[in-house]
Amino acid sequence: MKTRVTVVGGGLAGLFTASELLAAGIDDIVLLDRDSEPGGVARTIRRDGYELEPAATTLLLPKPHLTEVLDHLGAEVAASIDGATRYLYTRGRLITLPSSPKALLAPVVPWSAKLRAVAEPLVRTRASSPDESLDDFMRRRLGSGLGATLAWVAASGVFAGDPKRLSARAAFPAFPAMEDAAGSIVRSGLQRLKSRSPGSVRPTAHIPVGGMSALAGKAAALLGDRYRPGTVVESVRRSEHGWTITGTDEFESDHVVIALRPSDAATVVEGDLKAQLERAASAPVVVVGLGGPKERLPLPSGFGVLTGPDAGTAVLGILFESSYAPSRAPDGHSLAKVIAGGATRPDVVEWDDERIINQVGNDVSRILGIEPDPSFVEIVRHRAGIPQYEVGHNAWLAELDRLSGPNLHLTGWGYRGVGVGHIAADAVRITTQIATETST
Ligand SMILES: Cc1cc2nc3c(=O)[nH]c(=O)nc-3n(C[C@H](O)[C@H](O)[C@H](O)COP(=O)(O)OP(=O)(O)OC[C@H]3O[C@@H](n4cnc5c(N)ncnc54)[C@H](O)[C@@H]3O)c2cc1C
Repeated sequence: MKTRVTVVGGGLAGLFTASELLAAGIDDIVLLDRDSEPGGVARTIRRDGYELEPAATTLLLPKPHLTEVLDHLGAEVAASIDGATRYLYTRGRLITLPSSPKALLAPVVPWSAKLRAVAEPLVRTRASSPDESLDDFMRRRLGSGLGATLAWVAASGVFAGDPKRLSARAAFPAFPAMEDAAGSIVRSGLQRLKSRSPGSVRPTAHIPVGGMSALAGKAAALLGDRYRPGTVVESVRRSEHGWTITGTDEFESDHVVIALRPSDAATVVEGDLKAQLERAASAPVVVVGLGGPKERLPLPSGFGVLTGPDAGTAVLGILFESSYAPSRAPDGHSLAKVIAGGATRPDVVEWDDERIINQVGNDVSRILGIEPDPSFVEIVRHRAGIPQYEVGHNAWLAELDRLSGPNLHLTGWGYRGVGVGHIAADAVRITTQIATETST
């Protein structure tokens, strides 16, 4: 079969790209996914009245590209309740995490760290390398106490990653950009606060009505019979007039969008591109859903808690699902989403269920000061893990661009941002590129 574009992978990245192509009037497309249901890792689990998101939990809205993509899908979203209040578990207690540079001056921040933060605009140090680790960057800007803690929190909260291995420029480009623009992240943050126009809306946590599965289902429904579940792709090869895609079925296409994690993309291409894709790093995580009557699982209000570098727990964070999204648990019940393992504890994913439940129970008890007695337990192992943008990631991306050449597009959370907002931005970028190329 001959199509203008073949999209490989039916996770949110593939679905967003295919639906954006459709919205741009490019309808001669097909989306091939090996799974029987759309959504990839973001597939809502529903059981006993609970709604557990094994991957993406919230969407930060409004965001230029994500808002546009969701509008095109006709997706319904609801604002979360108190989704901005986040805690850090450190030195045996919970402290509220600052949400803006001003909050660094709050009473919970130690005086020494406060003074170092206030002095940050005066720090003139240069990066030892143009691609330094997040840990090096934060320590250089904010000192070894506050800097190391913030690097850990950012790495853990977004990537389940190790701040000593993640690249500041690839994983958190906003921080180096602030230093580049104003010579200081604190000064740049305060300048942004001051220059914000009175009517501007700050992005806040939203949840898709019906869960991430409903969002993926909207995209699949929009694609109609262009969406082909249960279709495994085994190879993508350059042909005389474009690309030949083989596997369960065979397709000829002008353009191919490979929306697979890098390790999966490596299995369908060959040569130097394959070798580069095989180099990608990832961090395995375990998600544990704990649910039960509120009195047996009392959760604080707010979004959730991250554990600090000193905590020594297998648990990286706990999201208070039923506090910020009450529809995710039956009335009078709580649901916590616990995330364990990650780059610094990759062994956790291989533990058996009993060991995971015991460790998670002990850690939750220490962190929240409760004795959890859940009646609902669901364990999801993400063995392939969360992509890690380690030092060298941006150079790797440039090499992938060079090797993939025209009309082959790589997208998904392995490349230009791990969040759903980044994936939406990439879907718009690729659609613009294909639309421009096909119109010239
Ligand atoms: C614990 C956790 C929490 C998260 N929280 C958030 C959050 O709160 N907010 C946020 O924005 N993001 C969050 N994310 C990230 C978000 O879930 C991902 O960015 C997104 O779901 C990735 O989508 P994708 O399409 O790139 O990849 P995937 O979901 O991995 O999709 C890839 C698809 O390709 C298919 N495939 C693989 N090989 C083949 C083949 N050979 N042939 C055909 N098909 C194939 C797979 O079956 C799959 O359907 C979280 C992730 C995790 C793990």
